[in-house]
Amino acid sequence: MTEKDSDSRELQRRFEMTEKMASAGILAAGIAHEVNNPLTVVLGLSKLLADDKRLPADAREMCERIAANAERAGKITRSLLDFARESKPMKRTLLVADLFERIEVLIGYELKSHLVNYTFEKPNDDCVINADLEQMGQVLLNLLINAEHAMTDSPEKKVRIGAERSGNRVIISIADTGPGIPADKIEKIFEPFYTTKPVGKGTGLGLSICYTIVEDHGGMISIKSPVEGGALFRIELPAA
Ligand code: ADP
Repeated sequence: MTEKDSDSRELQRRFEMTEKMASAGILAAGIAHEVNNPLTVVLGLSKLLADDKRLPADAREMCERIAANAERAGKITRSLLDFARESKPMKRTLLVADLFERIEVLIGYELKSHLVNYTFEKPNDDCVINADLEQMGQVLLNLLINAEHAMTDSPEKKVRIGAERSGNRVIISIADTGPGIPADKIEKIFEPFYTTKPVGKGTGLGLSICYTIVEDHGGMISIKSPVEGGALFRIELPAA
């Protein structure tokens, strides 16, 4: 296969993926909106009942469980809305170094408490992007949390995040020492609702959200399986 053939196959694949995401997004947003209102009622009333001292303790405990599960369902509907790109990015010029600093504050404790050894390499000042801080932060958090989950049973738990300038692009990479992603799954993992996590643990929306956010920023996200093992995510963005 020539380089041109493989380039046009890759383009075709990305196009199909975008189409698939768009139709899944419309469906997801519809469901999320419909489900949100009844869910707000379930959550509000179950919390009220859980605090009602006239009820026996075991009934109040059940209400607490209802509330906790309604909250979890609420998180899922919020992910659906994120995935459906309900919020457009509010872009501004952003130093990747500042983005990393913010993410380290948010996730450092979580990683440490799961015994993950993490390194945020300080990017050079030419790593500047035009991005929505919240959305790009969400992408990096998703990738770091996935790395942490993937390394649960790994003897070595390391994650490294770095960035470099390459011409008019900025490349952010996140590498972990988990089991990596089998070659036949690489095409699947950005698809909405694809998850290998048990029911109740994963929604399969995290990477689809990353994909749509990066695309909204004019960039691309891809995965490599490095020879030394683990997973390597690469985000390529236009430099500002
Ligand atoms: P979820 O985390 O809810 O499963 P995602 O879309 O974030 O949804 O991820 C989809 C799947 O991709 C995960 O269930 C997992 O199988 C795989 N995956 C994601 N990140 C990694 C990683 N760093 N290493 C290995 N597998 C991963």
